[in-house]
Amino acid sequence: MDQLKTLIREVPDFPKPGINFYDITTLLKNPTGFKGVIDSLAQHYRSTAIDVVLGIEARGFIIAPAVAYALGYGFIPVRKEGKLPAERERIQYALEYGTDVLEIHKDAISPGQNVLIIDDVLATGGTAAAVARLVETLHGKVAGLGFMLELDFLHGREKLKSHDVYSLIHY
Ligand code: AMP
Repeated sequence: MDQLKTLIREVPDFPKPGINFYDITTLLKNPTGFKGVIDSLAQHYRSTAIDVVLGIEARGFIIAPAVAYALGYGFIPVRKEGKLPAERERIQYALEYGTDVLEIHKDAISPGQNVLIIDDVLATGGTAAAVARLVETLHGKVAGLGFMLELDFLHGREKLKSHDVYSLIHY
């Protein structure tokens, strides 16, 4: 994991002053880095009961479908407002910088399905908590929340106390 950490670029004051942005593009373009992240996340969940993997727009769409593919499951997108064409469930939530709305197709999850949520970064936990609520609103079960990296100093996992949370890399 230390090797993976060296591939992540830190950009101070992006997207606004005071935010230290963890830029994963430098890791993704590295074949060992990308494979290492996907294989390690997939390995962690290999013995977990999962029916489907969910990813969050936009950077989650890079990691989650690859993990779904590696494990042999299907993929559900959670998208920004106004992008999904069919009947939607929506949730508004607070970010580390600003607020946002996320949506999921109402028929994306069948009642009782075990849904693994995968995203790039666990920061304040606002996004992940909102998405876990969306899953539960559709009567799905959150099988776990997996992240490439977690910003421990923001204590995001405290918003996810009722769930199993796993991150590969910690800052
Ligand atoms: P949060 O809701 O605060 O946990 O953050 C949700 C999303 O915002 C993460 O999945 C990241 O895509 C992005 N994000 C928030 N803070 C950072 C950061 N410091 N560096 C990189 N991405 C971030």
